[in-house]
Amino acid sequence: SMRLMEGKRGLIMGLANDKSIAWGIARALADQGAEIALSYQGEQLKKRVAPLAELINATEIVECDVTDEGSLDALFDHLKNAWGKLDFVVHAIGFSDKSQLRGRYVDTTPDNFRMTMDVSVFSFTAVCQRAAALMTDGGSLLTLTYYGAEKVMPHYNVMGVAKAALEASVRYLAEDLGKDGIRVNAISAGTIKTLAASGIGDFRYILKWNELNSPLRRTVTQEEVGKSALYLLSDLGSAVTGEIHHVDAGYHTVGMKAVDAPDI
Ligand code: NAD
Repeated sequence: SMRLMEGKRGLIMGLANDKSIAWGIARALADQGAEIALSYQGEQLKKRVAPLAELINATEIVECDVTDEGSLDALFDHLKNAWGKLDFVVHAIGFSDKSQLRGRYVDTTPDNFRMTMDVSVFSFTAVCQRAAALMTDGGSLLTLTYYGAEKVMPHYNVMGVAKAALEASVRYLAEDLGKDGIRVNAISAGTIKTLAASGIGDFRYILKWNELNSPLRRTVTQEEVGKSALYLLSDLGSAVTGEIHHVDAGYHTVGMKAVDAPDI
């Protein structure tokens, strides 16, 4: 039987190492026959990305810093020349200075606020602008968000504010691009130990808290985010757009833990 991503070509942005959520998604898509292009930030990441690219037979590997418009233009020009069209894009990128991912949100600094919004919010819109032009047979765009957009989580601070804006932008982009058959969604992933997550204060405690308090009584893996991404990026998700899909072992549904829990 035909694999879900056979004949589809797409870009995955935000691969830093084999712990990246982008890597879980890349493997799930490659397993189903997708042809994948990878973009990475800065030349020093190339030595980590190149061997991973080989494992999934990624054909195009392009450096791109999303804060640089010229760099984004060059990435999409490259894909236009190589492939002519695109079927999907995964945006697994976020950044804030780690000095601001601890303590109080009220102390956030103007420069870091703007930088965080630029890298973690506007970059997805900038990617959609360029990708949509290449999605001549329709397409699917996906970004990654976190529950700190919806509720106050310790230390998430300015990144929570940015994720709230990112989630709102998913809805506006879905409306704008829907008439061209282009879907736009986000996965709200549970906490996973990655390079970016390690910058968040008390991250080990937050992981443990999620493990003890989620309905499934565990955290989630990159592979599980990959499987849900496959649904949203393939024909399985053909009627789904503007959605923030939680892949978090159910954590977002819990208001309070029952008193008979064994660990209280
Ligand atoms: P990661 O560190 O593996 O990936 C983050 C990526 O962002 C890196 O590849 C980095 O190079 C890239 N990046 C940062 N600034 C960039 C720039 N200016 N230009 C291009 N790329 C840039 O960590 P991750 O946890 O896999 O993060 C991927 C996404 O998942 C992020 O949006 C993150 O907020 C989100 N997310 C993570 C978790 C978690 O617990 N790890 C939970 C929910 C959502």
